[in-house]
Amino acid sequence: MVMGESADPVDLLVIGGGPGGYTAALRAAQLGRQVTLVERDLIGGVCLNVGCIPSKTLIEAADARRTVEEVLGEAVSPGPDLLAWQQHRAGVVRGLAGGISDLLRSAGVCVVTGSARFTSPHRVAVERFDDATAFLEFRHAIVATGSRPVALAAAPMDGVRIVDSTGLLALATLPEHLVVVGAGYIGVELATACAKLGSDVTIVEARDRVLPDMPPGLVRPVAGRLAALGVTVLTGASLTAVSGEDVACEVRGELVRLPADVLLIAVGRTPNTDDLGLENARITTTRDGRIPVGPDRIVAGTDIAAIGDITAGPMLAHKASAEAVVAAEAICGRKVAFDPAAVPLVVFSDPELASAGHTEQSAREAGLRVRAVTVALAGLGRAATMGAREGSTQIVVDVDADAIVGVHMVGPHASELIAEGVLAIEMAASPGDVAATIHAHPTLAEGLHEAASRYTFTER
Ligand code: FAD
Ligand code: NAD
Repeated sequence: MVMGESADPVDLLVIGGGPGGYTAALRAAQLGRQVTLVERDLIGGVCLNVGCIPSKTLIEAADARRTVEEVLGEAVSPGPDLLAWQQHRAGVVRGLAGGISDLLRSAGVCVVTGSARFTSPHRVAVERFDDATAFLEFRHAIVATGSRPVALAAAPMDGVRIVDSTGLLALATLPEHLVVVGAGYIGVELATACAKLGSDVTIVEARDRVLPDMPPGLVRPVAGRLAALGVTVLTGASLTAVSGEDVACEVRGELVRLPADVLLIAVGRTPNTDDLGLENARITTTRDGRIPVGPDRIVAGTDIAAIGDITAGPMLAHKASAEAVVAAEAICGRKVAFDPAAVPLVVFSDPELASAGHTEQSAREAGLRVRAVTVALAGLGRAATMGAREGSTQIVVDVDADAIVGVHMVGPHASELIAEGVLAIEMAASPGDVAATIHAHPTLAEGLHEAASRYTFTER
């Protein structure tokens, strides 16, 4: 690599090696491009190294422990330190990271370690860890720099007692008293896991319920389970101060003090676009720091595409990787657009919650004439064998088009079951199509079949 002011020529530059960046690099390499990927930290990004994968390994461990406790009817003792789990997590991440690096290597992608910053519309400076700066002159670029946690002024992160999700997932010891600020995806998933492992957990949420952006009908069983696990949920609440052993919160006008040996801040994430020198590439971000892109993910008037958490829409790994394929193909001259009928939203709560496409309300607001059919989980044979009573599957049907436009589930394995719902929406399947599709018995998938059959045969 050339150092100093002269620049190495690069055909396609990808900035960021998360699910957006590495997927784009692989797709572009398949299409015959010479790809250079710059990553400042670890290949796999947030999702693999400190997000989706580590959090789900913690949830699996917590579920296993809780199931043993519930089946044996007594607490598993002694309570876990987290060192054995940390080793397990590291092994899982290492294995998956190795797989991605192998794919990039065999696709001929050149991986450069360093932090990239635009210096002109076709050039970046890459700061390396030996303090040397290299310049790359690119023909096209795809930016996939992801996001970072939002901080709270009342509780500056110290990585030890006041942590973000990365800090919590790096703990060697389970907190005795955990206070979680924010009851969104991260707050609910990690609060549930820590409660199952034995922490005393309190959630402090500013709005009026947990998972305030999810349909209320889906959230009710999750809120019920949090209560059953002994998690205290304070809504309409905000953190005001942190001191010594405890934290102070204002809850609907009253001051409450909570013991906290660890405080998890999970109040959202913000895109990594402020330190990219975007102005030098003639790119202006929106007010929330996202990069505006066209349907093909290319920034108008540039040779640069943007994908993942730095563009509009939910900050999810599968949205980033789906956009990556579109961006790579568009940069290679194909006529493509990112226009999914549904991006599934899944919370790995207990029970799991999954939502795809229109809710009844959003469909009506979009001017559709819709009917919703909801089937309770308790009526399914498989649910009875699992002892699962709380949960439901709902379909939302566009009556005029005779097409399923929304599927919403809460219950065991909803994270897996939603895939059939997303496929139905994407293929514009009618309820009759799903009703005519034989579903194995006894399975939880029969919930969707039952909802479609009920619409087709009785409620139409
Ligand atoms: P990232 O994964 O953030 O990757 C961006 C990469 O760019 C990083 O590796 C970063 O080091 C690098 N980078 C940034 N700036 C530069 C620069 N200037 N130069 C070079 N490199 C740079 N999503 C799900 O779909 N399912 C889940 O279950 C899920 N669980 C999550 C759990 C947690 C605890 C967290 C925090 C997130 C979770 N997410 C989940 C969200 C998911 O991790 C993100 O949506 C996803 O990682 C976004 O992918 P990305 O490629 O846009 O960015
Ligand atoms: P979030 O947006 O999901 O939830 C943040 C919560 O914090 C909201 O309920 C909000 O009302 C609350 N809040 C905001 N400010 C507050 C304050 N000052 N005091 C108290 N409460 C406050 O954000 P997150 O949980 O940090 O997760 C970030 C993103 O990461 C998610 O939006 C999601 O895109 C992604 N993620 C996805 C998954 C998954 O797909 N299963 C899991 C984890 C994270």
